[in-house]
Amino acid sequence: MNYEVSEKGFYGPYGGAYIPEMLVPNITQLRQSYRKILESEEFQRELQQLLRDFVGRPTPLYYASRLSERYGTRIYLKREDLAHTGSHKLNNALGQILLAKRLGKTRIIAETGAGQHGVAAATVCAREGMECVVYMGETDIARQAPNVARMKMLGAKVVPVTSGNKTLKDATNEAIRDWINHPEDTYYIIGSVVGPHPYPDLVARLQSVISLELREQLRKKTGNTDPDYILACVGGGSNAAGIFYHYLGHQAVHLIAIEAAGKGLDTNETAATIKKGRPGIIHGSKTYLMQNEDGQITEPYSISAGLDYPGIGPMHSWLYETGRVQFLSATDTEALKSALELTRLEGIIPALESAHALAALSMIPFKSSHTVVINLSGRGDKDLAAYTDYITETEKPNQ
Ligand SMILES: *Cc1c(COP(=O)(O)O)cnc(C)c1O
Repeated sequence: MNYEVSEKGFYGPYGGAYIPEMLVPNITQLRQSYRKILESEEFQRELQQLLRDFVGRPTPLYYASRLSERYGTRIYLKREDLAHTGSHKLNNALGQILLAKRLGKTRIIAETGAGQHGVAAATVCAREGMECVVYMGETDIARQAPNVARMKMLGAKVVPVTSGNKTLKDATNEAIRDWINHPEDTYYIIGSVVGPHPYPDLVARLQSVISLELREQLRKKTGNTDPDYILACVGGGSNAAGIFYHYLGHQAVHLIAIEAAGKGLDTNETAATIKKGRPGIIHGSKTYLMQNEDGQITEPYSISAGLDYPGIGPMHSWLYETGRVQFLSATDTEALKSALELTRLEGIIPALESAHALAALSMIPFKSSHTVVINLSGRGDKDLAAYTDYITETEKPNQ
């Protein structure tokens, strides 16, 4: 089975580039040059040095002994939460700005949900001295205030988006609109494996550093490059794509993606795209998406702003249909419970997004001999308000 993107930008029937006329020159330029630039020695030298000295890679692989004991298996955490700016997002933003520079672009735009991609984009723009405009839904601005403050301090302009339910989908629409109006000087740094070809492949390649490091780290720690299971949360799917990438052809490694079920799959307040959606076109690519009978995109819901998106990267639609990746989902409450569990057992406060992956630990019958790797995609500082509410609610003294 081939999981690579085709020449035309497809994973099976998914992907492609369904874009307005105005963006054809930009997308064509990107498609014709991205592989050549990414694979050039000069680009790789700059990228590798910055991944090491600026991002802080390789991120550690941590054996979580108390969590392992709790679930009766051997659990390792890939610590993307320890990357600079607090998540895996910087791997991608850094690679894309180095690419934008080589394409002669001077202005950067980005969309953001939880604010992690906005912070990553603002960070690399500060480093390069480039103008940065970040589109963010008003709902997300309210629930991720620390990241909004960070973006502003970094010099980015944060534009509030008031359409739809004012979250990631709406911010992406606005970013695309901006790009259509500024096709000459502007480069759009997309934050996940979504959007028109070549973005899904570009972002997957830039995030694949996660599984490249993991193979070597596991070999050193366990004598085997391949674990039995790899678990990752999926919004658009970039951290999952990154940690799955070098294992896609290794069929013995079980790959598990966890979507945000929100208030439950039996409610309309969910962001579980694979479970609740069907194929359609969103933000320039053909993929699973949540829609009503008329094909109108439905508003997603998750407590986690980074997973609150009605689509999913096209490669994941194909990985689902071919059965290569198994899709599970976790509710808001399951994620909150798992975040608190990890914090109390291991002294690590995870991002709410990552907590969805942790919640899958209780859904799979692991053996004591299994090696299980969880991609800890980010840290939880930005989610403290949600955690504080949850703790106040659950640890009320009995009266
Ligand atoms: C953005 C984000 C996600 C979701 O995005 P993917 O592209 O699906 O990885 C997950 N975890 C964290 C910490 C994030 O910031």
